Amino acid sequence: MSLASALYIVPTPIGNLGDMTQRAIEVLTAADLIAAEDTRHSRRLLDAYSISGHLWSLHEHNERARSAAIIERVQAGQIVALISDAGTPLISDPGYPLLRACRDAGVNVIPLPGPCAAITALSAAGLPTDRFSFEGFLPAKSGALNSRLDGLAKEPRTMVFYESPRRVLVTLTAMIEHFGAEREATLAKELTKRFESVVQSTLAGLIDWLEAEPERQQGEFVLVIGGYQVPEGEGLPAEAERWLALLIAELPLKKAAALVAEMYDVKKKLVYDLGLKLQGR
Ligand code: SAM
Repeated sequence: MSLASALYIVPTPIGNLGDMTQRAIEVLTAADLIAAEDTRHSRRLLDAYSISGHLWSLHEHNERARSAAIIERVQAGQIVALISDAGTPLISDPGYPLLRACRDAGVNVIPLPGPCAAITALSAAGLPTDRFSFEGFLPAKSGALNSRLDGLAKEPRTMVFYESPRRVLVTLTAMIEHFGAEREATLAKELTKRFESVVQSTLAGLIDWLEAEPERQQGEFVLVIGGYQVPEGEGLPAEAERWLALLIAELPLKKAAALVAEMYDVKKKLVYDLGLKLQGR
């Protein structure tokens, strides 16, 4: 198969080697250069598919410096692949400065679909998937952690977080403070691996599950947290109120209320009544 010269973004398995796609193997086999987060780790992956691959390391400390050289290679007609240690590059992984530089230079970029822990967890979480917010890793310092969670307390969409075994209990405890113990939550652990578990519960229920057997606290985790639900009869989230105020300046109240009700999945009447108040009627 002959491939166009480009920077290819190539997802790799998040545990189970069987999840490497046929196309990922073809691109990595054909690549003149493979930019990888950790070359020793990626060499083992490539060996598993008998791909010899010329590897370059690309991590947060050298990414800007290496981008220019990678762009030159693609402009000279080569095939360059970008991989990370696991899953989709750029998703809580290196690659953004390189991608940005490629876009700015008008370099051809071809993304391949493939494994991603966030999407795999979300698909099995049993929480709404029509709208969701990917939040990646939370800050480690308590001040920054609390202010991030505070800002998310009224987020109506399902939220997806990455977490390490070291911090999973700290994070769940902090989430209880900001979201409440009964907020729906799913923990997806060791996806695609031997000790895979997907546990759907509440924030408090997940802490109980993790504490019941300490070995459950080991491994890689995705936390999928249900969005804020406006309690029956209570007001709208502040963000919805702001949208309503903006929309009624441009649209008839009925139309504006219908749009905001749809956006936040709340009763039209609730929004309409608030609109009347905002209009001073
Ligand atoms: N780029 C990757 C992706 O597409 O999912 C994510 C890389 S990020 C550095 C690593 C984090 O992803 C882990 O700390 C964990 O939160 C999550 N993760 C990766 N593999 C996982 C797995 N097999 N099961 C559960 N979570 C996983």
